[in-house]
Amino acid sequence: MLTIKEHVQIAPLTTFGIGGPARYFVDVRTEDEIRAALAWARERGLRFVVLAGKSNVLVPDEGLDALVINITSNSFSFSGTQLSADAGCNLLTLVREATKRGLGGWEKLAGIPGTMGGAVRGNAGAFGPEIKDFVISVRALSSQSGEYRDFVNRDIGFAYRDSFFKRDPQWIITRVRVKLAKADPAASVRFTEETIAERERRHIQNVRAAGSFFVNPVVPRAIQELFEREKGAPAREGRVPAGWLIEKVGLKGARVGDAVASGQHPNYLKNDGKASAKDVLALAQKIKDAVRKQFGIELQEEAVVL
Ligand SMILES: Cc1cc2nc3c(=O)[nH]c(=O)nc-3n(C[C@H](O)[C@H](O)[C@H](O)COP(=O)(O)OP(=O)(O)OC[C@H]3O[C@@H](n4cnc5c(N)ncnc54)[C@H](O)[C@@H]3O)c2cc1C
Repeated sequence: MLTIKEHVQIAPLTTFGIGGPARYFVDVRTEDEIRAALAWARERGLRFVVLAGKSNVLVPDEGLDALVINITSNSFSFSGTQLSADAGCNLLTLVREATKRGLGGWEKLAGIPGTMGGAVRGNAGAFGPEIKDFVISVRALSSQSGEYRDFVNRDIGFAYRDSFFKRDPQWIITRVRVKLAKADPAASVRFTEETIAERERRHIQNVRAAGSFFVNPVVPRAIQELFEREKGAPAREGRVPAGWLIEKVGLKGARVGDAVASGQHPNYLKNDGKASAKDVLALAQKIKDAVRKQFGIELQEEAVVL
């Protein structure tokens, strides 16, 4: 039985803390509830928006004239070295539950906010590993045809912060199976907590933001070399950090209203008070214009601008 709420404030539910209300909002815990919610929206000719951990979205100031389908499914089970988890499970909770069972290998993903489904959609990663390195298969529901399909890893077309599900958003991820490695529980707990501490040290944890606002772009070799000379670090897969480009165009710390390009991590556009979505988008545009003008590079949003 669905409980559809009206005029729900979603800003407080997002890590950005920005945006107007949802016209309709429903928590869904099961596949049947997702189907029922989709049918409810369809019958009323309404758009639907899937949200989960709400750590990678910018909600518009005017809100969402739609049914927000809020994925809150949270059951999971372990079998041998495999974990099968609902899309709505919090990623850090799963990492911690795995450590208790002596399963690890993915500890560097600890502390990435959000859910398993959100992580698969954007191929979330940190400090090297990405969720794609662990996924065996993904079960998803087509909002168009109503069919369920099981996708194995190689069918998901994972790439840097990208997957089939990002490119074809008609699919709603419902369950994910991952393969982990046997680990010493105490060492795995330590590794997990060290990873979180490292994130805090680098100021990439607990920020009112949506994580990196822009994808690290692929750039011409000359710009890669400039980065490598300056930072003494290799440009991976032809990409340089968007944050470095923002710094180079002099916009580290730049502010529009209460939206600020973080001084510690300029690719985090953070809400430094009462930022509106308009402030964030104006700051993002300023950055894109400056980077295009100076480097001829077109920055693309990683955060989902709804
Ligand atoms: C402080 C901070 C630090 C971050 N650090 C990192 C980092 O180190 N690495 C990294 O990769 N990301 C990082 N992020 C970004 C974010 O945590 C990830 O993108 C995360 O995987 C998003 O998951 P979510 O559940 O919050 O998705 P949401 O924000 O709820 O949704 C994001 C998008 O995914 C879609 N979606 C969500 N669930 C499903 C589903 N079940 N099926 C289909 N589509 C779905 C939504 O429709 C939306 O388009 C960070 C964010 C913050 C705020």
